[in-house]
Amino acid sequence: MDVIIIGGGVSGLSAAMYLGRFRRQVLVVDGGKPANRFTHASHSFFTRDGIAPGELLAIGREQLAKYDTVELKNGEVTSIVEDAGRFTVTLADGSQYQTGKVLLATGLKDGLPAIAGIEPLWGKSVFSCPFCDGWEHRDQPVVIVANAEAAFHVAKLLRVLTADLVICTNEPAEFDAEQAAKLKEHGIRVIETPIARFDAEGEQLTQIVFKDGSVLPRTTAFIRTWLMQPNSLAELLGCETDEHDMITIDSGGRTSVKGVYAAGDLTGQARQVVNATHQGAWAGIAINNDLIAEQW
Ligand SMILES: Cc1cc2nc3c(=O)[nH]c(=O)nc-3n(C[C@H](O)[C@H](O)[C@H](O)COP(=O)(O)OP(=O)(O)OC[C@H]3O[C@@H](n4cnc5c(N)ncnc54)[C@H](O)[C@@H]3O)c2cc1C
Repeated sequence: MDVIIIGGGVSGLSAAMYLGRFRRQVLVVDGGKPANRFTHASHSFFTRDGIAPGELLAIGREQLAKYDTVELKNGEVTSIVEDAGRFTVTLADGSQYQTGKVLLATGLKDGLPAIAGIEPLWGKSVFSCPFCDGWEHRDQPVVIVANAEAAFHVAKLLRVLTADLVICTNEPAEFDAEQAAKLKEHGIRVIETPIARFDAEGEQLTQIVFKDGSVLPRTTAFIRTWLMQPNSLAELLGCETDEHDMITIDSGGRTSVKGVYAAGDLTGQARQVVNATHQGAWAGIAINNDLIAEQW
């Protein structure tokens, strides 16, 4: 294999397209768990607004099928070992593949706040990104569950879309005096009472129930999630990461380890389909350029 791409989300498939079209023998190994699998519709991606995430990937896989240079394999990569510039990639089923270039495109995992009832609503009526899901909930009763700068930032975004906005800090609020005054000025209430649970009808949030027994009727929540690498492959390889554990890359997706590239969410840059697709394309071009440089 010229290149093994680990992760067949939008970034991995986008890279595969660029590489396959340059006669590079590419293997894409994908665990089938893209970050947005919890939602019914992905928004804002040019020409594909509102598409189901699975459908977007199915189109990508279908269009790659005509390139005999690209092989797609369902599976989980469990280890990568480097020896003298060659990488041995091992899958959970025990199969092994060798390559000179590895692209990590394994996305990120969301850690949800420990609030009862939140998990089944994630991606349905509980979200984290106003650019992805704000418009669909405009003018509705929305709650932000977050604190300090994170809550303030999201509040400024969502206040453009709805005037019925409440922040639940779920702990003592940590706004400075200026932020607190601005929130008040824009009609945004702050509730510090700890949350007991989210109530819902099916996938639809109906109310927030607090530990003191009070309730707040709401149809939509925006929460702060904790973003984590979904595996330890980058760590195994010794790739440099930043203070948030995101993989450090140059403008071509090159990591600090020669022959290892990264693209998409796991680099910690704007978490959007358009950006992950762009990064995958860019890494594909850089890998191809690096292969040409080695051959010439
Ligand atoms: C709830 C939610 C809603 C969103 N809505 C939108 C939206 O409306 N619009 C928008 O632009 N963006 C949206 N996003 C963001 C978008 O989903 C991501 O930016 C995008 O999916 C990132 O693509 P990626 O290829 O980097 O990673 P992913 O799409 O997460 O794909 C990574 C792939 O790597 C695989 N993988 C991981 N580890 C391994 C391994 N060890 N071996 C093999 N495979 C592995 C996974 O199984 C997965 O298939 C949303 C995100 C979430 C969480």
